[in-house]
Amino acid sequence: MLNTPFENYKLRVARAVDTLGFSEELKAKLEVPQNIIEGDITIKGDDGSEKKFPAYRVQFNNARGPYKGGIRFHPDADIDEVKALAALMAIKCAVVGIPLGGGKGGVACNPKELSKNEIEQIARAWARMMAPSIGANKDIPAPDVYTTPQIMGYMVDEFEKIHGRSEPGVITGKPLSMGGSKGRTPATGLGGFYVLEALLEALDDKRKLRVAIQGFGNVGFYAAKFIHEAGHKVIAVSDSKEAIYVQDGLDPIAVNQHKEEGKKLSDYPGAEVMTNEQLLELECDILVPAALDNQIREDNAPNIKAKIILELANGPVTPAADDILKNKGVTVVPDVLANAGGVTVSYFEWVQNVSGFYWTEEEVFSKLRPIMQESFQQSFMLAEEKHVTLREGAFLLAVKRIGEAMKDRGRIS
Ligand code: NAD
Repeated sequence: MLNTPFENYKLRVARAVDTLGFSEELKAKLEVPQNIIEGDITIKGDDGSEKKFPAYRVQFNNARGPYKGGIRFHPDADIDEVKALAALMAIKCAVVGIPLGGGKGGVACNPKELSKNEIEQIARAWARMMAPSIGANKDIPAPDVYTTPQIMGYMVDEFEKIHGRSEPGVITGKPLSMGGSKGRTPATGLGGFYVLEALLEALDDKRKLRVAIQGFGNVGFYAAKFIHEAGHKVIAVSDSKEAIYVQDGLDPIAVNQHKEEGKKLSDYPGAEVMTNEQLLELECDILVPAALDNQIREDNAPNIKAKIILELANGPVTPAADDILKNKGVTVVPDVLANAGGVTVSYFEWVQNVSGFYWTEEEVFSKLRPIMQESFQQSFMLAEEKHVTLREGAFLLAVKRIGEAMKDRGRIS
């Protein structure tokens, strides 16, 4: 049976606390969220009936700055999932060294069965419920699964009406018209590419490599685009239905255009069609899971041929698979580092909102690159020094930063 994401988080944090020589007190504090806000929100459905949805916000840790993390609208959202995701946000923000803590929110609802009006009502009700607890210097939500810039727009509007003032920094991932940041859309894929560049430099690998990418949504597409532009060959991509393989490499922009025309991946000219499972086991140098969690497990990890796995999805490699890959000499670039470009540009959005001074896309990208590269280098150095994996190196970096802040605040001795 798979461990829950929260159990995995606790194991990894406990190991990092022991290696770094912090006290048991830190371990105990990092196992419990600082605040949990939960309750039902009620809206009037389009059919006139009253509809109730469980709603959550978990404020995990704010030792390094205001809580930060997305809100998901999903039928399976529950307090355990939100708690694990909030804890991982504290780790992710600490890995990239941005001055924010960790939080996460959710509403257990199925947006596919709700009208636009009902979704707006849920967004506004969530903002009303959380209004006393969030704020630009307190807790800064953002979009996540099935929540959009438009939904963030409704939430900011409701929050500002309640407080009677403008406060765009309360939520990131807003539409550009309300103070969203340029460059947010490609940020996660681009951040992952910057980390990959830094890894290849550390390995002194100057070859043009063959790359397979699972998932061709926002993150997968931009990762493919930047990897292709750097001269590597993207040999396979996939969506939820199927995967395509082109031995000499495909052009991600052309594949994206093909999809935007409403055509199936399998109709892409000159491509061999395969399953997602086959894509993961392809003969290639780099594998980029950019779709879902638990994709590389104990059963298929022995068949992975790639020497590098860049985790752009959250949790695509299970801990059991991690051990198998380590023994095979595969370098796994962990999600908390590889996909942290998204939250880093969210941080840039907040900086622009609180300063009231807005940047060009070029400025956003030029500030993102050194943050991603330095975070990689620091995680890599810690991993080398302590003879552990890059995932453990990233956790060491994060727990060190959070632990120091907890100590300086006098929350632990
Ligand atoms: P998206 O919805 O734009 O794209 C998801 C892609 O995965 C689509 O191509 C979809 O067809 C594919 N997919 C769905 N089910 C699949 C399956 N069973 N097998 C293979 N492919 C499947 O989402 P996204 O924003 O690109 O996010 C992708 C992943 O990255 C998620 O795990 C998300 O949590 C993570 N992530 C995203 C961001 C961000 O900024 N968007 C930041 C950090 C992490």
